[in-house]
Amino acid sequence: MVSSLSVLGSTGSVGTQTLDVAARLGIPVKAISGNKNTKLLAEQARRFHPDFVCAYDEAAADTLKTMLADTDIRVGSGMSALVDCAAGYGECVVTAVSGSVGLTPTLAAIDEKKRIALANKETLVCAGSLVMARAKEKGAEIVPVDSEHSAIFQCLEAQGEARALRKILLTGSGGPFRGKKRAELASVTPAQAVAHPNWNMGAKISVDSATLMNKGLEFIEAMHLFSVTPDDIRVIIHPESVIHSMVEFTDGCVLAQLGIPDMRLPIQYALTYPSRASAPAPGPDFTQIGSLTFFDPDLTNTPCLALAMDCARRGGTAPAVLSAANEEAVALFLREKLGFNQIYDSVAAAVSALAEDGAVTLEGLRAADAAARAHVKEHIS
Ligand code: NDP
Ligand code: MG
Repeated sequence: MVSSLSVLGSTGSVGTQTLDVAARLGIPVKAISGNKNTKLLAEQARRFHPDFVCAYDEAAADTLKTMLADTDIRVGSGMSALVDCAAGYGECVVTAVSGSVGLTPTLAAIDEKKRIALANKETLVCAGSLVMARAKEKGAEIVPVDSEHSAIFQCLEAQGEARALRKILLTGSGGPFRGKKRAELASVTPAQAVAHPNWNMGAKISVDSATLMNKGLEFIEAMHLFSVTPDDIRVIIHPESVIHSMVEFTDGCVLAQLGIPDMRLPIQYALTYPSRASAPAPGPDFTQIGSLTFFDPDLTNTPCLALAMDCARRGGTAPAVLSAANEEAVALFLREKLGFNQIYDSVAAAVSALAEDGAVTLEGLRAADAAARAHVKEHIS
């Protein structure tokens, strides 16, 4: 089990659950970060007594300094403070910020050879090959928190011989609109899109689950985490979310990881790996569940998944453009400036206009990310 933690994105869905797990396991929390939620950051600071708190937003950090003036907890803001949180505190960094803002602090934590408990998938989608190469070079361990990737990680670990892998079977519930035709989704509201049937998550990933972009981002995340090609991954819709993913080995045997849909389980495993600690969560009650079902994804009616898989195959800057354009389009959808189906239209237009093939650099990916965001904003106004 890790001896101390820094939690990036502590006020979010994964972040708050991480703090619950840390409290239960008695792991000290040395640094936390949020963006604007000063009320919760102040509460968390008083409860966990970290050395450092980052409010990314500068005005929020000023408010937080006043709120914590009677303590010796230091407060910072902006990217330099987020990097401090990642690099300067804790044996393990949980990256639970939402979006590609997680890239720079993740690289900083890698440079300090920390264990990265990685929830922030956009970092790997944007710059997976560079991040994984840097982690290998520095000897930093990346342990997935995303439930599917934790499942795959656990199946591979159980086998102990990664090269015996034939296929990753990446499961997904299909989201709240499974079975619906694209035309039926034109008037979907943000409230409908964020109401996921099995998981309670932050707004951005909930919308991504509704468009199935989340499964596409996870497809790219899996390629990088497990050094496999797109042809090595098959997406399977499994509405019950009991099997969190599977690995098929070269002899045709399949290992699966099963559990109730509760993010505290993969979060805890990333902190206790390679051991397990007890948790209050029950195992799945199979006779209550009754049956587990599986379907191929309907790529025609979930074009975001098809687009992400294309970008995965294409490589270059395509995944970075996809992810950044999607972040911007989802933010606009949540503010009711863009329709649900226009999320795909905006992202596809950005990919088609901007994605470049060939070898990538960090600077090139950052530029592609910024250009994709600008493209989406320009084309709706
Ligand atoms: P939330 O939206 O609930 O939380 C996001 C966190 O990031 C909050 O602490 C937020 O602060 C902070 N944040 C937002 N924008 C910025 C910014 N510009 N700079 C710095 N910090 C920022 O997200 P989730 O917890 O749902 O997801 C976090 C990550 O984990 C995502 O990458 C997601 O894909 C991944 N993930 C999430 C799962 C889940 O069950 N939720 C499952 C698997 C993966 P504030 O509260 O102040 O706005
Ligand atoms: Mg997931």
